Amino acid sequence: MTALLVLPGDGVGPEVTRAALRVLDALGLSIELDHDLVGGAAFDAEGTPLPARVLDKARRADAILFGAVGGPKWDDVPYPLRPEAAIIGLRKQLDLFANLRPARVFDTLADVSPLRPELVRGLDLMIVREATGGVYFGEPRGIEHLADGTERGFNTEAYTTVEIERVAQVAFDLATHRAGRVASVDKANVMESGMLWRRTAQALRDRDYPAIALDHMYADNCAMQLVRDPLRFDVILTSNLFGDILSDLAAACTGSLGLLPSATLGPIGPDGRRAALYEPIHGSAPDIAGRGIANPVAQILSLAMLLRWSLDRPDMADRIDCACEAALARCRTADIATPALPTVGTGAMADAVIAAL
Ligand code: NAD
Repeated sequence: MTALLVLPGDGVGPEVTRAALRVLDALGLSIELDHDLVGGAAFDAEGTPLPARVLDKARRADAILFGAVGGPKWDDVPYPLRPEAAIIGLRKQLDLFANLRPARVFDTLADVSPLRPELVRGLDLMIVREATGGVYFGEPRGIEHLADGTERGFNTEAYTTVEIERVAQVAFDLATHRAGRVASVDKANVMESGMLWRRTAQALRDRDYPAIALDHMYADNCAMQLVRDPLRFDVILTSNLFGDILSDLAAACTGSLGLLPSATLGPIGPDGRRAALYEPIHGSAPDIAGRGIANPVAQILSLAMLLRWSLDRPDMADRIDCACEAALARCRTADIATPALPTVGTGAMADAVIAAL
């Protein structure tokens, strides 16, 4: 039987995860669920944000549904034991190298975007961000003291051909099932790692994906185009650093963090399986946690991604996507409230999605 590891975490993580699991239950699939602690909850109970037991379960699970971790309660905890170290640890240990962040605007929500509705209506783009390499992991790194008494902070942006190829392959495969267009984003004009990124993406496209339309774009231009004309994009392929920034920008175009899911995929193993973690892009939202008002849609859509990518059930994923759109046309949580529709809490929004299923 399919085994799912559920790691609700902290703050609103457990609230939105509970809502998503009710939606899963309503689908009537036979899936074995194993719940465990992660982040601040695990630190409080066991003194570490990612217990070895949980990591072991994560390695064996068919997929992981993750809530969110962190909060002011753990602000004084040393960095390696902070709740956020759990998500970094999982990414690193499971080699979750491809972060998929869709930015989609349902027609009913075009009014929620800070951009004019005509700029975002119908938006449906996917950012594929490399997640285990680049400047966040490159060596050497550090802060050194200089002879004149000042300091120098430094990091290294480095990518190998293999790292670029494997994430580009994910982007090209995705585009094959979408509109067939990939914008590869780099700073090849000023960075050697960007030159290699561009050359490698182009060579892979020419060799294995001749039907894909590949454009290369500088990261600064991509940021500008995401605000001026986001509808021009289908799949955006980029590095860890640029992806971090551009995916938040794309998220902002849709209006609320509470609507956006994500997936992070590892390499395909010899048995054809791949490690995969699904989570909303938002954090633990300590300012609203415990009040039952968090928007569960991002986590419900993360569940849909899990069904699509890990359980090979695109039919169920489509049903959830449509049900979320229908529910949002009937009611709204506080983060996307509109005078025209009733404002509801987390549980009632899940009820509306289940009713629409
Ligand atoms: P956040 O995403 O938690 O919250 C930002 C704002 O968005 C807040 O005003 C919050 O109320 C709102 N918001 C977030 N999710 C919402 C939802 N589902 N419904 C309605 N409103 C929602 O970001 P933050 O405040 O910068 O971080 C809070 C904590 O979360 C920090 O400890 C941070 O490190 C952690 N964090 C964890 C993850 C993760 O677990 N992957 C990601 C980002 C931040």
